[in-house]
Formats: sequence, C-alpha cells, structure tokens
Amino acid sequence: MSSNGTPLPRFLDEAKSLACIHCGLCLGSCPTYLETGNENDSPRGRIYLMRAVQEGRLPLGDATVRHIDLCLGCRACEAACPSGVHYGELLEATRDHIEHRHHRSVFQNFLRRILIERVFPHPSRMKLALWPARLLKRAEAGHLFPKFIQDSLALLPAEMSEGNLPEVSPALAKRRGRVGFVRGCVMNVMFGSTNENSIRLLNRAGYDVVTPRDQGCCGALHAHGGNLAAAREAARVNLAAFGHEPLDAIVINAAGCGSTLKEYNHLLPGDPKAAEFSAKVKDLSEFLVSAGFHNTAFTARPPAIKVTFHDACHLAHAQRITHAPRILVKAVAGANFVELPESDVCCGSAGSYNLTEPAMAERLQTRKIANILKTGANCIVSTNPGCLLQMRAGLDRAGATHIETLHLADYLVRALA
Ligand code: SF4
Ligand code: SF4
Repeated sequence: MSSNGTPLPRFLDEAKSLACIHCGLCLGSCPTYLETGNENDSPRGRIYLMRAVQEGRLPLGDATVRHIDLCLGCRACEAACPSGVHYGELLEATRDHIEHRHHRSVFQNFLRRILIERVFPHPSRMKLALWPARLLKRAEAGHLFPKFIQDSLALLPAEMSEGNLPEVSPALAKRRGRVGFVRGCVMNVMFGSTNENSIRLLNRAGYDVVTPRDQGCCGALHAHGGNLAAAREAARVNLAAFGHEPLDAIVINAAGCGSTLKEYNHLLPGDPKAAEFSAKVKDLSEFLVSAGFHNTAFTARPPAIKVTFHDACHLAHAQRITHAPRILVKAVAGANFVELPESDVCCGSAGSYNLTEPAMAERLQTRKIANILKTGANCIVSTNPGCLLQMRAGLDRAGATHIETLHLADYLVRALA
C-alpha cells in the first residue's frame, strides 16, 4: 500500500525480481558500472531500486529514474548472471512504469515520444527527417549548432542507400527451402544495400527469400523505451505479415531487432502464433552457419587486410550468439582475423541511447575506439546498424578514417567469388 492507502501498481514479475541473489557477479560486465563505479549504476543496484519502487520504499524521483535511464539495456549482466535473472524483462517493465508516471523535460519528451517512437519506426518519416540533416552534414555546417546536433550529424553515414527488396527473391543454388526476411526500419533506410546483400547470401545458400511488403517495425525501440503497448501492437502487425505462408525461418540481420523478434512470445504470452514466430527467428549469421555457408561459399582469396569483430550487445548477450559471426569472418579473413579487446562491451549506441544519454554514450564510444586501435585492424565487422554508425562516428573523430566499418553481410558478399 502507498502512504495514502491506495494499492501500489505491481509492474515487476515478483518471482523474476526475487531471482537476484545480490552476488555481484554481473558487476564487472556492466559498462555503466565500469565507467562510474557507482553501485546504483550496476545491475544489482538497479534491481534493488526497481524492487524498492515496486514495494513503495522509494519514490519514483529524479535520482532513481536517472540510474534506470543510464542503463544501456545491453544485457551483459544477463549473460553473466548465475541465477538466470531476466534483467531485460525487469528493465522493460520498469521503464514502462516510469514513462507512465514520471514527468520528463520537453526535450526528452520530444526525443522519446516523437523522434524515437513516431519517426524512426516509419521509413517515409525517417527519410523526410533525415533530409535537412543530410544537407547540413554535406554543407559541413554542423559546427554552427549545439553539440547535440553536431553529435547526431556525426552519426549519419556518408552514403545512404534505400533497399530495393523484391517480395520474392529466388534461390541461386540448389533449392533448400524458403525463408522470410525482416528488412528493419533503420536498416532499410540507411543500410539498404546491406539488406540486398543479406538476401543475396541467403539466395546463394539455396533459399528463396520472401520479404512481406506489409511488415512493420519490430517494436524494439518502443519496448526499450518503455512503451510496451506499442511494442505489442508492432508484434501483432508482423505476426500477420509473416503468417501468410509456411517459412522455414525468419531471418534478420540487425541484432537489436532480432532479440525483440525472438521475444514476441514474452511480449504476447499465451499467443501460440507469437511463440511459433519467435521460434523461427534466426540472426543472419546463425542461419548461414547452420546452412554450412562458411564451408562452401568463399572461393575468393582472403583480402590481405587485418579484420576484427565487435559483438553487438543484442547478439552476444540477448541472443547469446558469438561463435557464428566469427566463424563467417574467419572463413574469409583466415589468419588476418584479430580479436578485439572487450569486444562485447557496449559501444554506447544501444538503440537510441546515444541520443537520450549522449555523455555516457560518448565515454563508451571512446573506450571502444581505443580498443579497436589497439588491434591494428583496418576493418571492423559487426551485425547491428547502431553499432556501425556509433563506431564510424568515433573512428572519424579519432582521425582513424582508414579503418573501415562493415556489416557482416557486406563483408561476406565482397569476399564471394
Ligand atoms: S543492461 Fe547493461 S548497462 Fe544495464 S545493468 Fe545490465 S549490464 Fe549494466
Ligand atoms: S543480477 Fe545475477 S549476477 Fe547480478 S547480483 Fe543479481 S544474481 Fe548476482
């Protein structure tokens, strides 16, 4: 009960919130704790805060919200936790609770409710919003604006290509099956050629690829930002779009979207279609490796450049996929592959985090770039658009323009004979 006798809203799953035994084994893997050293910026501290809010021992004040806002949602803590704490679910439920009850500044409301929730998930709106930003970037006029605008412009890629994806793209090798393809929102506006290359790889692996026209945003931006109702609505749109025909798998090349698609069964508990959909979702790297693509496809000589790999948080921690992309990169690079120190520590992108929390995002970006420079690599490969944009901007700022940033699909297509 609250102090005025009204029942407190129960936003956390009680059993899941009690699974944390406060052992602290997750602390060393938490990027924000590594940076601030503050227990309240650690997974253990945040779970304590969430429970204190739920139990009415702590008001939902600015200080509490600040520690939850600063969480990247990277889920490195989940991968490190011996008790199997579902931190991502606790965080999403807490953020949903916060967004319904906490007063935010006009600027933060604009970022969260308008830009992130109403512009980014809609490709036509995103293209319109990017048009003046691209003009400013081309005119090199960013320095006339505040730092936030300068940092946002730095994230825009020099070249953007919109994906021209056919509804059905037939197999280019002995036919092995039929898969669906999720084109993504940011991916198809900024990395359209990467989407085309992803389909090319799947066709070369022997699969017809279906890209339903009526698919929509996966809902990740809404779920991570504390709008679970909108995330559920997005999930229902995609269940309908991919439900028209039998598919062997539903393939996605963006790690952040992939983890949300694999968790539609949690977003819509008890819905058999959501469970069936989630079970079919595969990251491009895991699907290609399960199809043996790394053994058969590369006849081009490995390019003589040193290559390293950055683990996107939502691939390594949320989906626990670390081997498959490395198998594919090594199939091309051979002895030219070099491991990246702290490869699975967040680069600061974290979906839209680099817009809502630019200071911490920049600290983590600087840390990531320092590690990339240590490898001596000329090329860094990853599997998430946000990470690629964040690392590109950081490398440019560090003057390391000679280091290429590539999505795994582009890296593989370039190496095909
Ligand atoms: S999700 Fe990432 S930033 Fe948040 S508590 Fe877990 S490890 Fe730390
Ligand atoms: S989240 Fe897991 S690893 Fe971290 S303190 Fe709780 S039980 Fe330990």
